[in-house]
Amino acid sequence: MSETIIGIDLGTTNSAVAAIIDGRPQIIPVHGRDTMPSVVGIDADGKVIVGQAARNQLAAAPERTVESIKRRMGENAKVPLGGREFSPEEISAFILKELKSAAEEKLGRPVGKAVITVPAYFNEHQRKATQAAGQIAGMEVVRIINEPTAAALAYGADRHENESLLVYDLGGGTFDVSVVAVERGVVEVKASHGDTRLGGDDFDQLLADELLSAFLMDGEPAPDLITRRRLRALVEPAKCQLTDEPDVAFREEYFLGDRHLQHELRRDEYEKLIEPLIEKTFASVHRAMSDAGLAAADIDKIMLVGGASRTPLIHAMLADRLDIEPSAEINPDLIVALGAAIQAGIVAGERGSGVLIDITPHGYSTATVAPDGYGITCFPLIRRNTPLPARKADLFNTIVDSQERARIEVYQGESPDPEENSLIGDFLIDGLSLVPAGNRIRIEYHLDLNGILRATALEKSTGLVKSVTIDTKGEHVVELEAARRNIAALLGEEPPGADADAGDEHEDLLAAANELRKRAEALLKTGIGEDDENDIRQVLDATQIALKDGDSSAVEKHNDTLSDLLFYLED
Ligand code: ADP
Ligand code: MG
Repeated sequence: MSETIIGIDLGTTNSAVAAIIDGRPQIIPVHGRDTMPSVVGIDADGKVIVGQAARNQLAAAPERTVESIKRRMGENAKVPLGGREFSPEEISAFILKELKSAAEEKLGRPVGKAVITVPAYFNEHQRKATQAAGQIAGMEVVRIINEPTAAALAYGADRHENESLLVYDLGGGTFDVSVVAVERGVVEVKASHGDTRLGGDDFDQLLADELLSAFLMDGEPAPDLITRRRLRALVEPAKCQLTDEPDVAFREEYFLGDRHLQHELRRDEYEKLIEPLIEKTFASVHRAMSDAGLAAADIDKIMLVGGASRTPLIHAMLADRLDIEPSAEINPDLIVALGAAIQAGIVAGERGSGVLIDITPHGYSTATVAPDGYGITCFPLIRRNTPLPARKADLFNTIVDSQERARIEVYQGESPDPEENSLIGDFLIDGLSLVPAGNRIRIEYHLDLNGILRATALEKSTGLVKSVTIDTKGEHVVELEAARRNIAALLGEEPPGADADAGDEHEDLLAAANELRKRAEALLKTGIGEDDENDIRQVLDATQIALKDGDSSAVEKHNDTLSDLLFYLED
């Protein structure tokens, strides 16, 4: 039997875990429920609690509880919890560990690998942070996939008709919309848009603000954090009730001092509050459709994903604007985790069907001197909505005679104006030939399936290569070992023992890579053909990147390639 890889929907508000069990994707309950609140806390005895228990103490003990950590993924933040400090990756790792152990209990064996979903609009930082969180939790993250992609995969994997789907995913904290083509079990994302700061949480906030402004007397200051959190806890279920009921009554005794909170709200009043936010999602919907080159008439189905997509006004507005009645054939709370499990099954070789084609929601450019010779302009190499993995290269010229080095700047975005893009990394190619201006440099961007970018610059005339994985501006590199120890200490666990083995294995790979490099360098000195030399330099370079990334399986692969090359080239 092949090893089981689990699929995880690591949500802002709720998370879920699934796996292929008995040949089909199934949700694995956590604490007896299909989804688990993505909340981490320390209880009164100093013990870590994750999920509903942590959520329950959110209002009473906000200083010992962390919610919506996903909104901070990729930030270099220190989150205080139980007298210690944690990175967003570490907080997420608590959640992932809980899901992992539920899966291990259900499957009856250790789980070491996972596919984790992220919003399509997550940038490099956020994706890498998610990967790190999985590693801290003791899992290899074999694939990061976009949430709407996972949803479409869950929906499309067993379909045989050809369809164009619009996946509308509104969760607690993020919104994603994708146009997806399903063709004989093959899922292809055509375009994707979204907003990482829009979700049902914002509906709660509007509702809470409304109640508070009705409650507070003129000029009365806003109440403290605990009271505001209590109010948020109060409005969230009421909001869900408004999905099924035309009105709702709020009552909270002694809400503030000896004053009771008492309020009634009709659904249409609530809808007035949230309509501007829903309107905002339509801007993304239309953009995704026009990027995909589709009109409403070309869309066969609207799939609703995420808890907040249950809001009736969303159904109504989608049906009205696109003239299609949206469907939620698969539970919108579980569909993403099920899709992740299907993808995990594909990676594990358990499923032959269901091929995933993913796209990048961002374009990537490099800076060049403007044609008029003044100022800097950005030249897009990878356009947004390009299928992944993407490899795009172009030629650029040095601008002065005997230019020894060139700085390569990598931007996210495709605007010619660098100000409108964000600089996500740069590096130097040094030691260029001392020739007149016009020395040709080939710049290649490679965006992998996880949306992680590698940029390579190559001097055409000599084959001199410089290549980096984007060291994004302001990015912090998480020290995985220290992070594991940090969370293990709080959980009262021994730091994971399996790492010793993993460490040894990595040492061996490193030694092999060094040995191969020495042989390759010796061979290069003897002067071999240009093509062979390029091949070798490319592998050496790729090995270095893999070593830097700590990507053992890539190091192993490159070692094999290099060893084969050397076998043929050495006497
Ligand atoms: P995430 O993907 O961010 O983890 P979910 O998909 O679990 O989030 O959605 C959570 C959001 O959905 C919350 O804001 C929750 O209040 C909202 N929600 C859940 N059920 C309903 C419902 N029946 N009606 C309206 N909103 C709901
Ligand atoms: Mg979600």
